[in-house]
Amino acid sequence: MRTLRTEVAVIGAGTAGMTGYRAAKAGGKQALLIESNVYGTTCARVGCMPSKLLISAADAAHMLHAAADFGVHAGDVRIDGKAVMARVGSERDRFVGFVVESVDAYPAEDKLHGHARFLSPTRLQIDDHTLVEAERFVIATGSTPIVPDEWRAAGSRVIHSDAVFDWEDLPQSVAVAGTGVIGLELGQSLHRLGVRVTIFGRGGSVAQLSDPAVLDVARSAMLDELDVRFKTRVVKVEPHGDGLAITSEDTNGDQQAEHFDYLLSAVGRRPNVHQLGLENTGLQRDHHGIPLFDPQTMQCGDSAIFIAGDANNDRPQLPEAADHGRIAGENAARYPDVQPGLRRTPLAISFTEPQIATMGASYSELCVTHPGRFAVGKVSFENQGRSRVMLQNKGLLRVYAEYQSGRFLGAEMIGPRAENIGHLLAWAVQAGLTVDAMLDMPFYHPVVEEGVRTALRDLAHHLKNAPVHDCPCVDCTPGP
Ligand SMILES: Cc1cc2nc3c(=O)[nH]c(=O)nc-3n(C[C@H](O)[C@H](O)[C@H](O)COP(=O)(O)OP(=O)(O)OC[C@H]3O[C@@H](n4cnc5c(N)ncnc54)[C@H](O)[C@@H]3O)c2cc1C
Repeated sequence: MRTLRTEVAVIGAGTAGMTGYRAAKAGGKQALLIESNVYGTTCARVGCMPSKLLISAADAAHMLHAAADFGVHAGDVRIDGKAVMARVGSERDRFVGFVVESVDAYPAEDKLHGHARFLSPTRLQIDDHTLVEAERFVIATGSTPIVPDEWRAAGSRVIHSDAVFDWEDLPQSVAVAGTGVIGLELGQSLHRLGVRVTIFGRGGSVAQLSDPAVLDVARSAMLDELDVRFKTRVVKVEPHGDGLAITSEDTNGDQQAEHFDYLLSAVGRRPNVHQLGLENTGLQRDHHGIPLFDPQTMQCGDSAIFIAGDANNDRPQLPEAADHGRIAGENAARYPDVQPGLRRTPLAISFTEPQIATMGASYSELCVTHPGRFAVGKVSFENQGRSRVMLQNKGLLRVYAEYQSGRFLGAEMIGPRAENIGHLLAWAVQAGLTVDAMLDMPFYHPVVEEGVRTALRDLAHHLKNAPVHDCPCVDCTPGP
């Protein structure tokens, strides 16, 4: 086995790892980027980009159906599953190509292929071919979709999201387990592309929402279009012909057996920290096995090991992976003079329709950090002018601000243009704006943002006049 020495070893060449590697190099250090799989990142290969490509195809199909409500008739809509998946695949490959080009431009001596495992706080073993001795490390190993063992036993028709983007054609039917962002985005897209889809959710959660009022509207918006079975668990999965027999059970104990081509497990993702030899580092770890780390510096304890991206499970999203990676790489380079990096206001978007966005502090967080000290304003999009014009008048926005200071704290919404409104409101939180200052901003007409103004006016009114908003704490969590 050969031995390599470097100053910074970066484990994982996803978004966090690539950013971390570049930051360490920019900090003047020698760096080695270690990857066990193919290059291309989760985001480009099996995450953000191919899922949005599928959603765009589904939106096109949906618009043709929805056009009839405007008096516009498109005739028979035919979905060519092979063509849909061919575009998803080829555009995805294009995005992956750009990432691979970046990695190709890194010097060959900076890259190593194989699975990395800590032997000690300063030594890694890569497969059975190389020992790497380094002064500092960035763990950027990403996460893996969870597929419960008892489902996996039913064979290859039990899949997770990665597999969807390799389909050459659309199947007839898919059961989706999980009403999180991935389950709903993929479930709704497949439904709109003509696949028979049933989505099972153990509780009543919808994507990343925590506000009980927004959750109520979100559940009914999803139920209006989709076969979603809330409070219903998948209890048995067995092979059946070419597909699966799936038994589900609701909270009354009533069971139902149905047949589907596939079961798509979207019940969550697990940080890749379990086959890393972390027990050999002396780092303290939480009950998920993730090393305790400082979210401002990404440093694990006071060690020379930093953790970034999905691996640390702190807001597992692409922009966060890039920020974590940069902070971790910069700090690895300047260790032991570790500095806090820029963490931005939280912003999460689900590209369902209606879209879902949460920004700043969530309702459930405020119930913990500001009990009885925050006011709530709201707007329903049902009668909002522009939303109604576009026939997208479904949804609810709830906005939160601190009593006394009037500082805007955050919002949760389901509704039209949430991806844009989410940015607007997240920027307001990060800028530390008060509700009054936000109401001084321009609003054009007729735009969906006028709905935001209605919610802010309602919030301003409650800040001045209404009794203190207290959390119905039993509802403070999104449920299992
Ligand atoms: C279907 C789907 C849709 C998504 N949509 C969005 C979206 O719309 N917007 C958004 O912001 N985010 C989205 N995400 C999340 C986003 O893709 C991730 O947060 C982001 O890609 C994580 O980047 P990362 O660098 O942490 O991990 P990754 O890109 O997964 O990189 C980790 C790398 O580490 C390697 N590795 C692991 N262990 C080892 C080891 N021991 N040795 C060597 N290498 C190792 C892996 O092979 C992998 O290449 C989506 C995710 C999915 C799955």
